[in-house]
Amino acid sequence: MIGGGVLGLEAANSLRKRGHDISVVEFFPRLLPRQMDPEGAEVLQAQMESMGCRFFLGAKTKEISGDDRASGVLLEDGSMIEGGLVIISAGVRAQAGLAGTLGLTVNRGIPVNDRMETEKKGVFAAGDVIEHRDMCYGIWPAAQTQGEVAGTNIAGGDVTYEGTTMSNVLKVVGIDLAAAGDIDADGKYDAITHKDRDNFIYKKIVIKEHVISGCILYGDITGYRKILKAIEEKKDVSGIMDRLGKWDISAL
Ligand SMILES: Cc1cc2nc3c(=O)[nH]c(=O)nc-3n(C[C@H](O)[C@H](O)[C@H](O)COP(=O)(O)OP(=O)(O)OC[C@H]3O[C@@H](n4cnc5c(N)ncnc54)[C@H](O)[C@@H]3O)c2cc1C
Repeated sequence: MIGGGVLGLEAANSLRKRGHDISVVEFFPRLLPRQMDPEGAEVLQAQMESMGCRFFLGAKTKEISGDDRASGVLLEDGSMIEGGLVIISAGVRAQAGLAGTLGLTVNRGIPVNDRMETEKKGVFAAGDVIEHRDMCYGIWPAAQTQGEVAGTNIAGGDVTYEGTTMSNVLKVVGIDLAAAGDIDADGKYDAITHKDRDNFIYKKIVIKEHVISGCILYGDITGYRKILKAIEEKKDVSGIMDRLGKWDISAL
């Protein structure tokens, strides 16, 4: 499996359940780079390794070997991973050909303003194909809100889109994972964490300037809705830090 993101891991796990030996090659040094920080990814990796998966992290693929059919994947460091089936699950790219034909700029997506209007007056765009305030979301709730804003403005209204809190509730290899906002993968901010490696649980709440700015809940997503609401409302949590430190989410 080339790509250790959500869809790659799901496909890998399905094949594993069918009795295949699975090796996952991921360009980033950790799994689920968008949803997990290094500590959480390590718990997920340990759990998947205990199921029999092998991982090659921080690894770049060079070539798929084989003549009539695949026989393996060669990495840039020269190591060879043998395998009879290679699946690439390495992200999505906007199908922006139409925008190009219209003479619109296409970066990672088509840039739009807060009214979902492209650089050409009267031409609107929304969803996975757009780039708003340098963000390409690629998630359903963002596409839905953007579509509503674009539709309202096309129909003569005047509404704006302020962005969507990045949030995902997923089942990764059968285990619940919820991640939202800024997961602070580099550990720049304060955080309340709970790690139980034996039971494959990892939880983290990121606090930036007295406000919860993001979270990761792996293996136990109790309280996720409350945490997400606090992120969206930019709730000041300075008065309840003691309770949050004990994972008393009812304090929120
Ligand atoms: C496998 C998978 C799983 C996902 N799971 C989740 C999830 O669990 N949660 C979540 O929030 N998001 C998920 N997503 C992302 C979610 O599907 C997208 O964010 C959402 O579909 C975006 O909606 P959209 O209308 O912008 O684009 P799309 O749903 O991609 O719709 C675009 C449509 O436009 C058509 N089109 C393209 N070019 C042209 C053209 N020139 N003329 C006419 N039609 C054209 C395409 O064929 C397509 O039907 C997942 C995505 C994938 C691929």
